[in-house]
Amino acid sequence: MSRAVVAKELVIAQARSLKMPGVVRVFESLARQAREDHWGYEEFLHEVLSAEQTSRRDSAVKHRLREARFPEMKTMDTFDFAATDGAISAAQIAELARGEWIGRADNIIFAGPIGTGKTHLAIALGVEAARQRRRVLFTRAADVVRSLLEARDARELGRLQRRLYQVDLLVLDELGFVPFDRAGGELLFNLLTERYERRSVIVTTNLAFSEWVKVFGGDEKLTTALLDRLAHHATVIPTKGKSYRMRKKTLNESNDEDQVTSAALPKTGRKA
Ligand code: ADP
Ligand code: MG
Repeated sequence: MSRAVVAKELVIAQARSLKMPGVVRVFESLARQAREDHWGYEEFLHEVLSAEQTSRRDSAVKHRLREARFPEMKTMDTFDFAATDGAISAAQIAELARGEWIGRADNIIFAGPIGTGKTHLAIALGVEAARQRRRVLFTRAADVVRSLLEARDARELGRLQRRLYQVDLLVLDELGFVPFDRAGGELLFNLLTERYERRSVIVTTNLAFSEWVKVFGGDEKLTTALLDRLAHHATVIPTKGKSYRMRKKTLNESNDEDQVTSAALPKTGRKA
């Protein structure tokens, strides 16, 4: 084996044992380029280390995205702001995507009818936060309450609570779809109280604030206290209009055949 081949094998082994996958991937092609373009040694080293930095950043983001457990991938660039009846401003969402509100432990509440992009935007903002390497967790409100109740029964409540307190951004989707019993409502209340002014929450809900008390088993005091904390430092974004999917469907149908549209519309309307 030539000296060059031996050196190459050694570099690969060393980079692996130092956990530098970026170096393993790029050093050969960079070495070739360095020879061709007569780079100095420092320049070569800098390029190799930059590749390692990029690789680490990328895998940290991937890790954050996996941890966040988004039910599906939704991003800002697939959101059609023109289809929101003027309810949602692209500039406002772009500003929120910068994530400064997470640094301030502020909250966001998306409230509005089904299919108006609440979950889409909540995921998209969560994805942006994960890209900034913040710890994010997405969960439906009913699921997290169920997990809390199960953890309590298994005497593991403390552990789950700590995990839930620690994430920088908790996305609570679909608050209001399923009402909680008293114990469940209290556990959710405790979670939000613990996070209050320390860590951010995004809530999506189909309910008006006046209806929240229904979700918390009619407990006015608890609901008022919870809303107080949640909304104290919150950006409330009301969504409105028809369901986006239905709107699309209507558009397509009216392109195809006008008569079918009027007959088909109320049916899909009820389903949504
Ligand atoms: P909600 O959570 O308000 O019920 P979703 O965010 O789940 O609604 O939206 C339903 C579907 O329609 C999703 O697939 C979502 O990506 C899509 N959608 C909703 N609004 C928009 C929009 N303005 N631009 C692009 N897709 C949208
Ligand atoms: Mg939703």
